[in-house]
This record gives sequence, structure tokens and C-alpha cells, in this order.
Amino acid sequence: MIRFEHVSKRYANGGDALKDISFTLEAGEIAFVTGHSGAGKSTLLKLIAGIEKPSRGQALVNGQNLARLSRRRLPYYRRGIGIIFQDHKLLPELSVADNVALPLVVAGHHGPEVGRRVRAALDKVGLLGKERSTPQALSGGEQQRVGIARALVARPPLLLADEPTGNLDPELSREVMRLFRDFNQVGVAVLIASHDHALIEEMDARTLTLHAGSLVSDV
Ligand code: ADP
Ligand code: ADP
Repeated sequence: MIRFEHVSKRYANGGDALKDISFTLEAGEIAFVTGHSGAGKSTLLKLIAGIEKPSRGQALVNGQNLARLSRRRLPYYRRGIGIIFQDHKLLPELSVADNVALPLVVAGHHGPEVGRRVRAALDKVGLLGKERSTPQALSGGEQQRVGIARALVARPPLLLADEPTGNLDPELSREVMRLFRDFNQVGVAVLIASHDHALIEEMDARTLTLHAGSLVSDV
């Protein structure tokens, strides 16, 4: 699913945000990326999401060489990746159902199929009754679950999450992690950037640790 070989990233006006990173994540694997602020977690996720390009080394995701990812191909590439943000980035003027439908609509789906898949995704995160609500009417944990439903509605094989529990209390964080495990168990590869040590320990999953741009452990 993901194969990094000696990948480095240097920003135009900065130092090396990532240095000589090599790792693989197989289909159906789940792993955390951890490290202090500035260690390179967001940069790693941005490379995989196609937001930034590697400066050196070879990065393959879903069979795509990221160095050769053209602007034209980017939307197609992104359809293979579900992304979950800390602040969930839901659109306040749209209903929960319309927010979740967005990736399908953008991919050109329409008709009853969209509604069916949106309901299936909301059902998986336990929010079937909230279809017509607006995001503001929901609790923080519910909003994050809407974000998860939106990330997974188009059934991408890879899920990226950037500090997905940053704004949640421990109980809600565990609930979000349970959902990731559920999706992982049906074959979705999951990569979670987090500095929530307690949560990472509790999850007992593979953990990649970054320090000042280097991968210092992978256990
Ligand atoms: P983390 O997510 O672990 O906090 P980041 O990937 O955001 O780490 O940052 C890694 C390093 O790259 C930091 O030193 C940060 O200041 C730098 N950096 C991040 N984004 C940029 C950018 N757009 N331009 C220059 N430097 C950046
Ligand atoms: P955000 O998570 O708010 O979108 P970024 O991911 O762009 O922010 O940046 C993450 C880290 O990188 C932050 O610590 C930020 O200060 C730093 N950073 C972002 N852009 C630059 C830059 N142009 N030069 C140096 N550091 C940067």
C-alpha cells in the first residue's frame, strides 16, 4: 500500500523536514506515526496525500510513484485515500448527509446510489439518525465520526488521520480508535499521526517514531 525508500523532504525555505525515511505499510495494516511537534508527522502525511512532493528517494502509494504524480492525475489518486483531520473540516452549511456525500459527488456519482452509500457509511459510525442535522448541532465526537464516514464513504483502501483525537476526551478518543480498528479489520490500511501516548499504548499497534525528521523506531 505504502512503500518509502530513502525518502527525504526539504521545504523551499526550510531544513530537512524528513530525512532518509524507509518503511512499508501493507494493505490492511494499522500503524501510528508519533513524535514531538516539528518531528515531521504532518509532512509525512502530506507526502502520502499528494499535498507535498518528496525531494529525494522513492515513494510509492497505491502503485503511484509520488514524484511522478501530475496535477492532472492528483484528483484520481486522492480518491484512493480517505483523510481525517483533527478539526474534521465539515462544511457548516451542509447537512451531515451532504457532507458525507461530498467525495462521491466529486467523483461523479449521483442518484439513489449516493444516498444508499451515505446511509451505509453513517450506519457504520453509529449516526444514521443524524442525516438531516447540521454539523454544529452535533457534539465534538459526533462531528469527528461524520468526518470518518466522509473519509470512508468512497471505500478507499487507505485511511490517513492527522491527530484525529486531538480535540476529544479519552472516552471519545477510544471510540474513534475502535472505528479505525473496525475498518482496519475489513482490509483498510490505516496510518494515524498522533502524539497521544496514552492512546497509542492502549492500542498496542505498530508505531513509527519520528525525531527531527528521522525515523528513529518502528515497533
Ligand atoms: P509535525 O507534524 O511532526 O509537527 P511537520 O511535518 O509539521 O511536523 O514539520 C516538520 C518540520 O518541517 C518542522 O521543522 C516545520 O517547521 C517544517 N515545515 C513544515 N511545513 C513547512 C513548510 N511549508 N515550509 C517550511 N518548513 C516547514
Ligand atoms: P497546520 O497544521 O496548521 O496546517 P502546517 O502543517 O502547515 O500547519 O505546519 C506544521 C508546522 O510547520 C507548524 O509548526 C508550523 O509552524 C510549521 N510551518 C508551517 N509552514 C512553515 C514555514 N513556511 N516555515 C517554517 N515552518 C513552517
